[in-house]
Amino acid sequence: MPSPLTGTPQAVALRARIDAVLARVDDAARAAGRDPGEVRLLLATKTQDAATVLAAVAAAPGGRPVLVGENRVQELVAKAPALAPLVADERCEVHLIGHLQRNKVNQALATASCVQTVDSLALATALASRCARDGRVLDVMVQVNVSGEATKAGVAPEDAAGLAHEVAALDGLRLTGFMTIGARSDDAHVRAGFARLRTIRDDVVTGGAPGTADARELSMGMTGDLELAVAEGATIVRVGTAVFGPR
Ligand SMILES: *Cc1c(COP(=O)(O)O)cnc(C)c1O
Repeated sequence: MPSPLTGTPQAVALRARIDAVLARVDDAARAAGRDPGEVRLLLATKTQDAATVLAAVAAAPGGRPVLVGENRVQELVAKAPALAPLVADERCEVHLIGHLQRNKVNQALATASCVQTVDSLALATALASRCARDGRVLDVMVQVNVSGEATKAGVAPEDAAGLAHEVAALDGLRLTGFMTIGARSDDAHVRAGFARLRTIRDDVVTGGAPGTADARELSMGMTGDLELAVAEGATIVRVGTAVFGPR
């Protein structure tokens, strides 16, 4: 039976926009000779209220968990009670995609199953020690600043493999891959940055160091550049504007 949420005008509009984004992903994947099923959509839900996030999760095609990405721990905590039943039913998985301060680690861990923005060993160690104490394992990605733009977070590309190896060796964390935010630049430059992240991932996985075998995800591409990211191997695209409209 369809959920009562699926018939509302908001739900219909969200479904149409999600379908349009998935069609863009599919086209880009096929053009690159990739299986579209290799690419997951993460809903970037910053500034959206809990009801809208729930409607979007309900509107997404079923079959596997919908990824929801929050930027700020404060928003993550505020929307957590609404999302909890969906998380429990494995309808949705919550990732942190914004910068995490070490004093917010406990709050982030209460809701997020993956922190995509690990950019220092200090942060990784804080997450790991908390997870070890709780007897759980947290998925993490290393955020890399491929564009070198000063406004963007992330470890420098030349330091990314080193940090990945250190993170992978920590108990309590499972390194699942790498995340980046594309350059604000022309397509060739943006694409080169995504290719750089893929090379880092490939080098780390083929290097075979302890804890790196699962580090296959490439979280890259947003509303404006997801085709370039999929062409370079993205496994998660993080989309806000194309689903929820301008912020
Ligand atoms: C906001 C945001 C997105 C989504 O950006 P859009 O351009 O709205 O699709 C993706 N990733 C991060 C880290 C973001 O902060």
